[in-house]
Amino acid sequence: MQQIKTLAADLLQLLFPNLCNACGQPLLKTEHLLCLFCRFDLPYTDFQLYADNPVAKQLWGRIRCANAMAMFYFRKASRVQRILHNLKYKGKPELGTLLGVLLAERLLKSNVGWAVDFIVPVPLHPKRERVRGYNQSQCIAEGLGTVMGWPVCTNVLVKTVSTSSQTRKGRFSRYENLKSAFAVHNGSMLQGKNVLLVDDVITTGSTLEACASVLYDAGIKSLSIAAVAFTK
Ligand SMILES: [Zn+2]
Repeated sequence: MQQIKTLAADLLQLLFPNLCNACGQPLLKTEHLLCLFCRFDLPYTDFQLYADNPVAKQLWGRIRCANAMAMFYFRKASRVQRILHNLKYKGKPELGTLLGVLLAERLLKSNVGWAVDFIVPVPLHPKRERVRGYNQSQCIAEGLGTVMGWPVCTNVLVKTVSTSSQTRKGRFSRYENLKSAFAVHNGSMLQGKNVLLVDDVITTGSTLEACASVLYDAGIKSLSIAAVAFTK
């Protein structure tokens, strides 16, 4: 019976191969979502190792950050772009969870002691989340939180205005527009807390800036930032 099951699994893999979400090569039976080669060979930034890293620098003067990091460098037409594309548009929330686990591994390996009371994922507008079926940043947050023992809070920061039509605007107008797109619910939960804001990719930092602004207004003590990728 076991042999038949194995044979059936092999046949399925032959007909509908599970592919690595980064390089597109068929996965071995022991591999899950990413091949072993990519897991080790992706462009890790190691930003968590130094406080004045490019993500922190990009946010200087804009957001008060206790810690800031992104795990991968993002380049166009790269494996990291393919991972994020599959996470957002191919119905693979489990890929977000895995990325969160990898993020946790980076933090644990480098022995950085971040003070975090809970994680807040950057929210999607409810309409967008309904269409996608999940919020990819929440999936990343859950993978990260499970390993680190940090609870994930999904009901405090909400996106109230859909901002999908702003990609062509400049940084300032985008920020002005974005600032009013986020709101805090259950604000008393946030008072005096060390919050870790989690996003999938950091480009201009405008989204993080807008989220940070409403979180600080709600009385948080400190803010740290972690993302899967950084575009600069
Ligand atoms: Zn691969």
